[in-house]
Amino acid sequence: MEDDLDLVLRYFESKESAATNPAAGSDRFATLSTDEIQGKLDAAIPPNTRRKELWAVRIFDQWFEQRHNRILHGDTTGLLVLKERHEWNACDWNYLLKMFILEVRKVDGTKYNATTLRDIFSMMQHYLQYTLKKELNLWKDAACRDARMALDAAMKEATREGLVPGTNASSPIPATLEEELWQKGRLATTSPKLLLFTLVFYLGKQFALRGGTELHGLRYSCEIQLQHEDGQELLVYCENRATKTKNAGIKRRFVPLKTVKASHTADHDRCLPCIYKLYVDKRPENCTVQNLFLVWMRSDASIQQGRWYQNAPVGRHSLDGIVRELTAPLTGVTERYTNQSLRKTCASTLHRAGFAREDIARVTGHSSTAIERYIQFDVQDHVKVSHALQSGGQSSSLSIDTEPERSVEAMEQSNVVTANPAKKMRLNINGNTNTVEIVFE
Ligand SMILES: [Zn+2]
Repeated sequence: MEDDLDLVLRYFESKESAATNPAAGSDRFATLSTDEIQGKLDAAIPPNTRRKELWAVRIFDQWFEQRHNRILHGDTTGLLVLKERHEWNACDWNYLLKMFILEVRKVDGTKYNATTLRDIFSMMQHYLQYTLKKELNLWKDAACRDARMALDAAMKEATREGLVPGTNASSPIPATLEEELWQKGRLATTSPKLLLFTLVFYLGKQFALRGGTELHGLRYSCEIQLQHEDGQELLVYCENRATKTKNAGIKRRFVPLKTVKASHTADHDRCLPCIYKLYVDKRPENCTVQNLFLVWMRSDASIQQGRWYQNAPVGRHSLDGIVRELTAPLTGVTERYTNQSLRKTCASTLHRAGFAREDIARVTGHSSTAIERYIQFDVQDHVKVSHALQSGGQSSSLSIDTEPERSVEAMEQSNVVTANPAKKMRLNINGNTNTVEIVFE
């Protein structure tokens, strides 16, 4: 063992000494200016966090000024803090944040909901830590207990008073709506626009793509490629860049980039590899644009000449609005469908089909329990729950329509019926390469 180590060390020593000659060693290390170094540090904080911090601190400043003025005009209910802000210690912050979090109100004078209060508090922590560079942890330090208890009290009070965070989360798309989209000709492959929309719909659903950057970042013949494996034609998606949840910073470990493979299905009109091939056939020859999604032609003349797409990428805004545009005419105001819905549809559908959480996470690329938010019940799931509870644990809805006394054979029969839908899909997992293959039978 020691001999081995000695060999390795000697190898690196010889490399290092070779590099000490100025010509070879001068460009080994990066040389960054002070500004460049600061820029890199700033880039570690996501722009959204920075914006939220500025927002919370602005509210705090306004509150502080109002309270300060009241004290100057004879109010004796609060202490005057005369020190400069950078001199405030843990006691000062504890005292001020305790009052602030209980007294903070929206511009219209109403209270914030629990989630927003917590956000404001954690942004103040961010401000203390990163902007003021204070060694102070509002969540843990004993000196900040009062501020923490005030937050706890304010959050509970807000929820008791019926203030709940507004939900702008998108819903998964039910199978019935997907069918309706086909029936009404909103999903179709018959025109340039419809073909592109349908491709986006199925790419998003099959590969659980994130809206925005992930969809917009797709390049032709790069992340998505047709491959042949085991006599099957597959459309393969290889994630190839860090995303929001895979930034691999200190707080998040790096999650391997996912690979998902889509096979042909029984219904080729609606099968992703077929839709993709149709689209690729329509791309203009000598296309110089890297993006997968190209601007569609609108004039009948060019469509008749077989020219479906232009040599230009679809804008981010148009791409982001595709699912909304597809579904809007068919749905009421209660459900909100966006491109994000496709990702949720993927997770929820696989869950319904009986796949385990870990397997679903391989398709969606989720790293942890974050997947729970993506698995949502639809009406059929709720009906199944009600039936199961009513029938004392029989999971099939078939069990309630027959007479209470049933033979063992009949019970087994109904179990087989329940198990069947899960058998229609097969998931092949290759642990080494983190590859998932969904095969529809
Ligand atoms: Zn097909």
